Amino acid sequence: MGLLDPIAGFGVTFKTMFRKTFTQAYPEAPKVTAPRFHGRHQLNRWPDGLEKCVGCELCAWACPADAIYVEGASNRDEERFSPGERYGRVYQINYLRCILCGLCIEACPTRALTMTNEFELADDSRQKLIYEKSDLLAPLLPGMTAPPHERQLGDSERAYFLGLPETRPVDLPQGTGNPNLGL
Ligand code: SF4
Ligand code: SF4
Repeated sequence: MGLLDPIAGFGVTFKTMFRKTFTQAYPEAPKVTAPRFHGRHQLNRWPDGLEKCVGCELCAWACPADAIYVEGASNRDEERFSPGERYGRVYQINYLRCILCGLCIEACPTRALTMTNEFELADDSRQKLIYEKSDLLAPLLPGMTAPPHERQLGDSERAYFLGLPETRPVDLPQGTGNPNLGL
């Protein structure tokens, strides 16, 4: 070791003391994530509280990590969970497998599945990292009613998906609706 080596070492220390710090005061002040950050998933609702998921399983097929399990079921007039024919009866995401790539949300035809900015997914048991539908469903906002219940946004599916509050004929120009919903 040369005579100048310790001086060079202290020089590095001295310079570093005046650099901008990157330390985060976590968890007291967690870093704000980017608006399109890929965090925990959410199953969304229509404005009357019914679920957007139609149980089609496209998200599960798109997942490269085999992290999603869906079981669809048919709605009944006396027990309706989504406005269309089917709903997701069982919906699970295994966060031990998920790599938060977002391919599932790209595959979803109804925008039922999106990702939130929540990144605190660590837990102390494997079981708790398998999120059930009840963990993933969006909270009920004012004006929403928890399913099952009848559609409250108009009684034709076209009116419903357009968010129209009352029953009336809807004439859409060809090709302006969502083809996945038959609009
Ligand atoms: Fe699968 Fe990627 Fe969706 Fe996670 S984010 S469930 S890995 S498709
Ligand atoms: Fe289909 Fe979307 Fe529901 Fe997945 S979240 S089952 S893609 S409607």
